Amino acid sequence: MRGPLPRPELHSIAVHAASRSGGAPTSEPLHLLAANENPYDPLPGVLDAAIAAARRFNRYPDLGCERLIDALACRFDLPPTRFAAGAGSVGVIQSLIQAMAAPGDEVMYGWRSFEAYPVITTAICGATAVGVPLTDDGYHDLDAMAERVTERTRLIFLCTPNNPTGTAVRRDELAKFLDRVPENVLVVLDEAYAEYVCDKDAVDGATICREYPHVAVVRTFSKAFGLAGLRIGFAIAPEPVAAALRMTAPYGVSQIGQEAAIASLAATDEVMKRVDVVVAERLRMENALIEQGRPISRSQANFLWLPLRERSAEFADACARAGIAVRVFAEEGVRVTVGSRESNDLFLATAANIPAGA
Ligand SMILES: *Cc1c(COP(=O)(O)O)cnc(C)c1O
Repeated sequence: MRGPLPRPELHSIAVHAASRSGGAPTSEPLHLLAANENPYDPLPGVLDAAIAAARRFNRYPDLGCERLIDALACRFDLPPTRFAAGAGSVGVIQSLIQAMAAPGDEVMYGWRSFEAYPVITTAICGATAVGVPLTDDGYHDLDAMAERVTERTRLIFLCTPNNPTGTAVRRDELAKFLDRVPENVLVVLDEAYAEYVCDKDAVDGATICREYPHVAVVRTFSKAFGLAGLRIGFAIAPEPVAAALRMTAPYGVSQIGQEAAIASLAATDEVMKRVDVVVAERLRMENALIEQGRPISRSQANFLWLPLRERSAEFADACARAGIAVRVFAEEGVRVTVGSRESNDLFLATAANIPAGA
């Protein structure tokens, strides 16, 4: 073939299967339980802030996201110098890997976990991905991960709660792990689902990152805060790392996104009321699935994980026929977002008609 060709590593990026959830509005009567989105429409005050900002979109956004970062610094009671915002937490994760890992360096994570880690590490950044298998029940195997640290390890991602298994890392096991990881290795807690965590023993990154100099936290406005379409996430990181992140993706967050995020922080009480409803729905769905005889584990996020193995595709197909989009991981399992009550009811009724099998 002739003509300029992109780096061959990029061929390995699978087209994102969840894209059916996003994009332009369609008339398809689909129940969107594939992308862990917030089922609620935007909060009125947040929408107003975004619309007001839209009236000025001929202007560039605030390069430093200063008011947003000040609001975050105030919320978490940490200096603004420890924060960086980006185009979704995926944007922040990409900046982190670019800032920390050169070709030959290793980026470790538990696996199965968030697909962005291997894609960004290998295809986009040319670094080496080290995926350490989860335990059989879908938890991070922190002992195995500590043992895999080498001189080339630069970054370790811990997704907690883990996407897609829904399990959270516990405080006590993390403390032991962090004591074993050398201080030149940055441990990143990806807490995209932090707001949904109920387990009192689960890690809270905002606390841990005060106690350890080699911990960063990545959070997002996409899930509980419902701003997925506006692309805004942030990191709390050691100061030199945060400074690097602020430099690597200039103008990454639109002013509409910044204003919506600031308004969302101000509306945290309302946001958390919605989170409470989702958590109650999560429990209701878990109980119903267990009653159906399905082996699920309790989730700490806004989705459920059904480890259906070789029966995953068949289950997802049956959901699709009922107008429900779920996320299938071939031969591993199906991830189902906790959505609106109506969508959840339809999902439970559909699942009840799929044989639970052996
Ligand atoms: C959804 C998700 C994100 C958030 O992505 P955004 O880019 O902020 O929309 C980050 N990490 C994990 C594990 C996720 O599941």
